[in-house]
Amino acid sequence: MLDLCNQLLRALRSDAHSAVIFSFQDPTTFAIAPGTHEFSDAATESRFSRNELTATQARLRVTLLFCSFFYVLFGVTDISELGFGHDALVVFLARAAVAATAGVCCLISYRPCCGVALTRLLACAAEIAGVAGFAVVLFHRPGETPWHAMSMGMMVIVIYLYIPNRLVYAIAIALAATVGFIGIVCAEGWLRLNDILTMTMLLLLANTFGLVAARRYHQIRREEYRARETLKQITLRDPLTGCRNRRYLQQELLDTESSRAQRYRQHLSVVMCDLDHFKAINDSHGHGAGDLVLTEFARLLMNMTREHVDSVIRYGGEEFLIVLPETDLHGAALLAERLRAGFQATPIEYAPGRTLRATASFGVAACDYARADQPLSLTQLVVDADQLLYESKKHGRNQVRSKRSVDEVPAGSVA
Ligand code: GH3
Ligand code: MG
Ligand code: MG
Repeated sequence: MLDLCNQLLRALRSDAHSAVIFSFQDPTTFAIAPGTHEFSDAATESRFSRNELTATQARLRVTLLFCSFFYVLFGVTDISELGFGHDALVVFLARAAVAATAGVCCLISYRPCCGVALTRLLACAAEIAGVAGFAVVLFHRPGETPWHAMSMGMMVIVIYLYIPNRLVYAIAIALAATVGFIGIVCAEGWLRLNDILTMTMLLLLANTFGLVAARRYHQIRREEYRARETLKQITLRDPLTGCRNRRYLQQELLDTESSRAQRYRQHLSVVMCDLDHFKAINDSHGHGAGDLVLTEFARLLMNMTREHVDSVIRYGGEEFLIVLPETDLHGAALLAERLRAGFQATPIEYAPGRTLRATASFGVAACDYARADQPLSLTQLVVDADQLLYESKKHGRNQVRSKRSVDEVPAGSVA
């Protein structure tokens, strides 16, 4: 998938006009820090974690339930070793406490308020409870220390790989548990020096394998996310101009923008624009020049609108739609007029020493959701703006028409 993604990007970048387009592909956005194996960019890491949250919580629950089951099941070995006395009861209670902690963590993870930070806290709590419970077992059954060392190795692997957590937290807990375990065994003198050495080597090996595999896992998951996001960006953008495309309008804007404006009682405006006599430009200067005019017009639209707030969409061949949240009719009409004047004034060099000028017509529609009795959908606003664009074309092109300009102001002016 990663290769496919890179190939697509290379193919699209090979188009000279598309160079500007892929500024959204800022390499620092998806850089992975070698130490933490997380995205260096905090916003990207946060988006990634939120995107993975449901799957992470499901994995956490499965792992905790699975581990708790075996934790309690191993109580059988306590009874065979300790019988039914006081020690067996203490160890049983320790095992039950670990299972109960895991159960509570699972339940909390179902709550809607359980975000990324709390999910990680739950993972840490379950890991620490598991390690602490294991220490109780260790103190009550010191005669089986070599077996416990083996269990410790498995627990370390579970912490690194199976309980989803930040890599740095997993490293801290697994290493602290390992050092604590070796420290207790040494201090209590339960093993000969040779055995301690072997045990330490084995636990070191378990930590190393766990750490290496966990690093790869964290890296691969983030590379997959990067590939998915890149493909998503590619499929939601027009390759020639770098603007958003109709699919983006359909998937990301149509349902959300008008409902958001309605919920927060804000303004929402749309500007529909279309290049004038564009067919004639193609016919007289060639399609390459036509493409360049489209690219320059799109660049102007993107430069003069707010990044991450407004959306510039290539709506048709030479027709563009701008969606302007929190913008009233007056503001949108002023912007459209600035775009019209700016484009008219921009000479476009389509061949060395050869320039052309082009113009565009605009239709502007808006809705004030704080006042509207019957709030308009974004689709309806687009229909209205298209109608106004048609009016601009009919009345001589190279002009802006907004609802108010049609009602109150003579043709050709801006309200
Ligand atoms: P009007 O002022 O009424 O809008 O006239 P127009 O010539 O701009 O409109 P018309 O619909 O007659 O022609 C649009 C032209 O746009 C026809 C089509 O070949 C051209 N076109 C559409 N997409 C592209 C493209 O990606 N590149 C180029 N070079 N031309 C395109
Ligand atoms: Mg046109
Ligand atoms: Mg057209």
